Amino acid sequence: MFSIVLGVALLLMVGALVTADRALSSASGEAAAVDALESSQLFEQIVAQQTEAINLFRGPLALPSDRSPQLERMAKSYIESAPGLRDLTIVDSAGRVLYGATPTSLASINRRGATMTPGPDGAVILTVPLSSEARSLGIAIARFDARRLFATALDTAPDTRARLVLTSGRDSVVDVGSRAHGTSLAWRSGMVRVPGATWSLSVGHAQRSQILRITLWTLGLVAMLVFGGGVLRERRQALRVAERSAELERLSSELLRANRMKSEFLANVSHELRTPLNAIVGFVDLLRDGVYGELSTRQAPPVERIAASATHLRHLVDQVLDIAKIAAGRLEVHAETIVLRPFVLNVVSELEPLITERGLNLSIAVGGSLPRVRTDPTHLRQILVNLIGNAIKYTPAGGIAVRGRLTGLPAPGSRSTVQEDPALLNRSPDRRKTWIALQVIDTGIGISPSDQERIFDEFEQVNAGPRSDSMERGTGLGLAISRRLARLLGGEISVESQPGKGSTFTIWLPVSPGDIPVEPTEQPASPQRAAV
Ligand code: ADP
Repeated sequence: MFSIVLGVALLLMVGALVTADRALSSASGEAAAVDALESSQLFEQIVAQQTEAINLFRGPLALPSDRSPQLERMAKSYIESAPGLRDLTIVDSAGRVLYGATPTSLASINRRGATMTPGPDGAVILTVPLSSEARSLGIAIARFDARRLFATALDTAPDTRARLVLTSGRDSVVDVGSRAHGTSLAWRSGMVRVPGATWSLSVGHAQRSQILRITLWTLGLVAMLVFGGGVLRERRQALRVAERSAELERLSSELLRANRMKSEFLANVSHELRTPLNAIVGFVDLLRDGVYGELSTRQAPPVERIAASATHLRHLVDQVLDIAKIAAGRLEVHAETIVLRPFVLNVVSELEPLITERGLNLSIAVGGSLPRVRTDPTHLRQILVNLIGNAIKYTPAGGIAVRGRLTGLPAPGSRSTVQEDPALLNRSPDRRKTWIALQVIDTGIGISPSDQERIFDEFEQVNAGPRSDSMERGTGLGLAISRRLARLLGGEISVESQPGKGSTFTIWLPVSPGDIPVEPTEQPASPQRAAV
């Protein structure tokens, strides 16, 4: 296909060159044709004028007497005016020479009509029979130097004419110009009608465009070579790029496959680890509960350490399992329609003992009028537990608030209750959509701006808990899982934080337009204590 296209392009270029070449060469041919026509007419005119002028000698010949002096006068004046006239002879009907002295064989002269014939030494001879009232009076014979006779026609040549050849049969009458041009001349011919004969006139015009044509062909061929070379080079490059992309594609799919296999492996291993871990945690709990006898004061601390480490390990394995499942695309979404306020109260109630234990304040501001959300409650619970768990972990003093707000641009002309909080709206994943922003706000240690993005990466920790305290020590997976889960639910998680002042983690949950209440029923949300 490529070679066909290249071939067609090159053929088109050759076609264009040939057309341009023809146009250039035909310009010289046309100039020669015009010259041949115009020159023939001029030659004919010159001969006709001379014939007419000679015809005037009839007058004195027809006079009954004293004709010689008048004939002499007239002949002299004609000789002065005739271009290139070498000599003039006038004989009467009896053959006596009345003027001039050139011995001429009169036998060969056609007495009926005028003739023009080529003579020796570049001469042309014009013979004009003179007659009056059907009576032969005599004959005038004028011998001209051909070049001088036709000087007007030869001199008025266009400057592109290189050669002119006037021939009578095989005899050349006039041949002027250079022969050096040879075949590079554009030749055109015409006919010159002279008395008693038809001569042939050929003009050769120099092909002025010759250099132009050579330049045109040279440039054209160079352009074709450059074009062909360029196209071939491009083609080679394109092939190389295609090969590389194919290689990259292969590598990428191999990488994806390897990654999927890694996730599968992780998921399988974590799954397998959970069974013995559950047994360990279970048996340690039984030990702590004294099912196998009361623990001595020396035994209790190591058993507590085993319990803490085993719980931490199980938590870690659970999270690795989650990450691996998400990566392998094995985590499914079972969407249900939920009402947010009771859902949040329920989740918070599970964590409230921890909050109280830390001496932190808790406030919940999730309006009952918030639209229902279609989401997977298990995943949303996991995210919320994670964020509140982190807030507890990283807030030494102060409090934690959970707040729910509807945000987004209301459809034009709609009476929806969506509030436009510009600051919140600006942070939403898509400003054209409506979202519920579920926020976990704490007054904890905060996160520096440079860490705010990387904390969502796997195993990224900024302030890990003390290594000795397994319960406190994080895994660095909680936020990575939470963000992936939020995205799985069609939403997002964002963070704003100031070190030393606290953090606000926002879960963005998409709200379908049909679920947005159109009446302004929402009361101003006021912080309230969780009824747990
Ligand atoms: P971890 O198990 O370490 O808590 P996460 O993925 O949940 O892992 O969190 C990653 C890091 O983000 C944490 O190590 C901590 O430095 C930071 N972080 C998370 N939540 C908060 C918060 N509410 N306040 C301050 N830092 C936080």
